[in-house]
Amino acid sequence: MPASSRPPVPFLDLAAQQKRLEPVLRQRLEKVLSHCRFVMGPEVEELERELARFSGARHAIGVSSGTDALLAVMMGEGIGPGDAVFLPAFTYTATAEVVLLLGATPVFVDVDPDTFQIDPHSLEGRLQEVRKNGELTPKAVIGVDLFGQPAPWARLQAFAASHNLALIADCAQAFGASLNGRRLGTQGLATTLSFFPAKPLGAYGDGGAILTDDDERAALYRSLRSHGEGQQRYDVQRIGLNARLDTLQAAVLLAKMELFEEDLARRREVARLYDAGLPARVRPPPRVPHSESAWAVYCVTLPCRAERDSLQSYLREAGVPSAIYYPRPLHHQPAYEKCHDGTLLPVSEGLGDRVLALPMHPDLTAEDQARVLEAIGQWDRQTSA
Ligand SMILES: *Cc1c(COP(=O)(O)O)cnc(C)c1O
Repeated sequence: MPASSRPPVPFLDLAAQQKRLEPVLRQRLEKVLSHCRFVMGPEVEELERELARFSGARHAIGVSSGTDALLAVMMGEGIGPGDAVFLPAFTYTATAEVVLLLGATPVFVDVDPDTFQIDPHSLEGRLQEVRKNGELTPKAVIGVDLFGQPAPWARLQAFAASHNLALIADCAQAFGASLNGRRLGTQGLATTLSFFPAKPLGAYGDGGAILTDDDERAALYRSLRSHGEGQQRYDVQRIGLNARLDTLQAAVLLAKMELFEEDLARRREVARLYDAGLPARVRPPPRVPHSESAWAVYCVTLPCRAERDSLQSYLREAGVPSAIYYPRPLHHQPAYEKCHDGTLLPVSEGLGDRVLALPMHPDLTAEDQARVLEAIGQWDRQTSA
C-alpha cells in the first residue's frame, strides 16, 4: 500500500492520552459535577499544592492561561510605559504581547545558534544600546525555556542581578524540564506556566500557573488574578484581572499529573529514537548542557530553506505532519515592527527558514515513529546529490 493512503501520523494525539487517563479523569470530573464549585473550587488549591511539590517552588497560583500568568507577573513588578523589557526574538508572540499590553516596550534579543535559547552576549549588547539611547528604563528580562529546554539561567540570573532587572521565567513550553538536576520553576522571581492542550502538561482548554518562592509576590498574584481583591471579597485593593483557573481544568490537570512523569519519560524515549535515526543532513535539536528537556517540541534543522521546504512537502505526501516554529522572528511580525529599533538579530532571522518540528507526544507509537523516520530517510536518499 502506498504511504499516502494510510491515515496520517498524528502530530499530537490527545485522544490516545485520554484513553490512558479515563478512569481517573472521570472520577475527578464527577467530583466537580457533584460539588459544583466551578470557580475556585477545592481542585484549584489541590493542583497548586501538586505544582509546588513537583517544581520545588514555595507557591503555585493557578491562572487562566500562560499569557495571563505573564501579564499578572509583569503587573506585579509595576511594568508600564517607558520601561524596556528584554526578551528573545525567537519565541511565541505571547511573551512580547503582554509587554505591549502594559504600555512597556519589548526589546528583542537574538538567540544562541547552538541552543536556540536567548543569547547572553546579544542581551548585554541590547542593554547597552537602550542605556545609550536613554529613552527607556531597563526594567525586566523574560527568559523563555524554548521548545522544552532551559534558558541559560545562571547567566541570566547574574545579568539581572548586576543590572538590577526583574528576571521573569516564561516556562510555558518546559514544565517538567530540569537543569543541573533541579526542576524548572525557581529560576526567576516568578515562573509562568501554560496548560494549553499542546504543552507538555495540557488541560482541556486554557489554563496556566505562576510559581514563586516569594510569599509577598504569591499573595499579590492571588489578588491580581481575582480583580485585585484583598482579604475580603469586595475589598478592592488594586486593579486586577479576571484570570482564575477553572475548577474543571484543575480537575483535568490533577488527573494528568498522575501520568506526567510517565509522559515525560515517553517523550524522552521518542527524542532518543529520533536522534538515533536521523540522516546526517537533518540535524537533531541542539541540547542545553546539564539539562533534561520536557520535549514540548522536537525541532530539527536543515541546511537551508529549500531543503527544509522540500522535506516538509515530502513528509506531507507520506502522511507525516510537521510544523514550523517560528516562521518569522517577532521583530519582523507586523505587530512588533513598529517597536523594533532596526537592530539585526541574524540567528533569529535565519532560524525560521531552517527549522522543522516533527510529531512529538507521549502516545506516538513505535510504528508511527518508524514511519516518520522511514519517510525522512527516503527523502534523504532521493534528494541527496
Ligand atoms: C504557549 C506559550 C505562551 C502562552 O500560553 P497560553 O496558555 O497559550 O496563553 C507563552 N509563552 C510561550 C513561550 C508559549 O509557548
